[in-house]
Amino acid sequence: MHTVESSYSAATAVFNTIHPAGEPWVHTVRRGQIFRIVDLEGNQAVDTLFYNAADPSERYSLTHTIQAQGALYLTVGTTLMSSEGRPMLTIVADTCGRHDTLGGACSCESNTVRYALEKRHMHSCRDNFMTAIAKSGMEGLAFEKRDVVSNINFFMNVPVTPEGQLTFEDGISAPGKYVEMRAEMDVVVLVSNCPQLNNPCNAYNPTPVQFLVWDGA
Ligand SMILES: [Zn+2]
Repeated sequence: MHTVESSYSAATAVFNTIHPAGEPWVHTVRRGQIFRIVDLEGNQAVDTLFYNAADPSERYSLTHTIQAQGALYLTVGTTLMSSEGRPMLTIVADTCGRHDTLGGACSCESNTVRYALEKRHMHSCRDNFMTAIAKSGMEGLAFEKRDVVSNINFFMNVPVTPEGQLTFEDGISAPGKYVEMRAEMDVVVLVSNCPQLNNPCNAYNPTPVQFLVWDGA
């Protein structure tokens, strides 16, 4: 697992917030800024989508990203590509070393299928994304249901077996691990800090994360 530490210190961040377990979050990161997500207590899945702040119909694309790097896992050196095939952000530091973009976000439907019928009412990332879109007006932009596309799961370990199967495994992250990326365009960040209680991706215990932004070099 390839890891790289950051040279940025929290003291010089222009934005620094602790975000509670299970909740959605929306924020605009400007081109050239550095954006860090810290897994404060370890093994928290941070379901994330990115949109071009100037035109949200251009958004993070897992197929373009996988194709561009010729690999499935995201880590240092990965450029997160848009649906127009343009670089959105580049991962520049990463002390966890593996992030998933295949597993998708949890939803009441998937919770019901994967776990049990009585899990249906439980809070999900899909609901979080929809709530954020409905409530915030998403930084003044008009978003709707179809804008919620396949996402990134930071700190989530979804290994692919030699037979090509996806498995949801115990996380490899730990308290204080972080991932950091440089914005290559102005991006709206949409996060669901996963409320999932039934999946080892959260160690069955959703926990807070920290978001920091620097103005960059
Ligand atoms: Zn989730």
